[in-house]
Amino acid sequence: MNWALIGASTIASQFMIPAMRAQAGGSVGWVVSGSEARAKEFAAANQVPNATTDMAQALADPSVDAVYISSTNEKHHAQAMAAIAAGKHVLCEKPLAMSLADARQMIDAAASAGVYFATNHHLRCAGSIRAMRALIDAGEIGEVRSVRVFHAVHLPEHLRGWRLDNPGAGGGVVLDMTVHDTDTVRFLLRDDPVSVTAEVANSGMSTGVEDSAMSVWTMSSGIQVFSHVSFNHPFGQSGIEIQGSKGAIHALGVISQTPRGDIRLMTDEGQRDITFDTRDLYETVLEEFYKAVQTGEHAGATGEDGFKSLAVALAVRASAHTGTRQTLTYGEAA
Ligand code: NDP
Repeated sequence: MNWALIGASTIASQFMIPAMRAQAGGSVGWVVSGSEARAKEFAAANQVPNATTDMAQALADPSVDAVYISSTNEKHHAQAMAAIAAGKHVLCEKPLAMSLADARQMIDAAASAGVYFATNHHLRCAGSIRAMRALIDAGEIGEVRSVRVFHAVHLPEHLRGWRLDNPGAGGGVVLDMTVHDTDTVRFLLRDDPVSVTAEVANSGMSTGVEDSAMSVWTMSSGIQVFSHVSFNHPFGQSGIEIQGSKGAIHALGVISQTPRGDIRLMTDEGQRDITFDTRDLYETVLEEFYKAVQTGEHAGATGEDGFKSLAVALAVRASAHTGTRQTLTYGEAA
């Protein structure tokens, strides 16, 4: 699969290009940027043969099979619509768009055009998260009662740009991290939140957008979930704790871009460390994306998954801003 990258971004150079090239027959043909200088610099640094500021030029290349969109969030919708219209498969970064209407339009356009459209929620492709889901599915902790997600960490210096001061670009920790918590919990529990209550804060790192948020969700099963996200916790450690009727899963460090962390299963029989597959998360994302293109079967995050994570993030923000509990219907009549 030959990729065109839309967005000369950190995630593309740091994780996605190596993962694309690690696939059998995987290559990167183009980078598209808003700036000619950045496009050229990115192409040279990452050995990408073609660089342009004209997205249509890259999309017109018949050797391009798929497009990876990792620009700032307000650009995802228009770029995805153009790529879909050009008949390319699309892997789009989270959050899919700035509004649910836009996200729905992207998903529907891809379905009409007969191209595959997916969301880069990498965490459900982590061996750690999949091992935790297998424990739940096997009944190891009995009936799940609650999930606590702690994802309050320290935004690395080199990412302290638009995320911290640009609401128009989709900045703020909720669109950045609550979406990932949502997708991970939905994947673990095979269930969707039906209501959320939240508060957000600016603890001193951002301007005009929140840098921290705490939210409580109720899943359709009644399970309660707590999600704590922050950019501004220098000594924070990520983790997920799942409490069940017969046991609990304590996982530390598993909300990560790299395959790491420690998982412990606790039951009446004692404690057991759980091992898991340590394959690169983004290689799994791409392998499963290829499989979806070929067969329609997809274990990774689809467009619908990206729609739902965006719905929860927007509801978290709405709850915090209005001081009211938000009900989630995902576009269906209540
Ligand atoms: P970056 O800030 O690195 O890049 C985003 C955009 O900023 C680029 O597309 C580029 O615009 C512009 N840009 C990059 N470098 C510069 C610069 N030096 N000066 C001015 N502008 C610059 O963003 P990230 O890689 O952190 O995030 C990109 C997207 O990926 C977001 O949607 C984010 O939510 C998502 N993401 C997803 C992750 C995941 O694991 N799924 C992890 C990290 C991010 P242009 O398009 O014009 O080249």
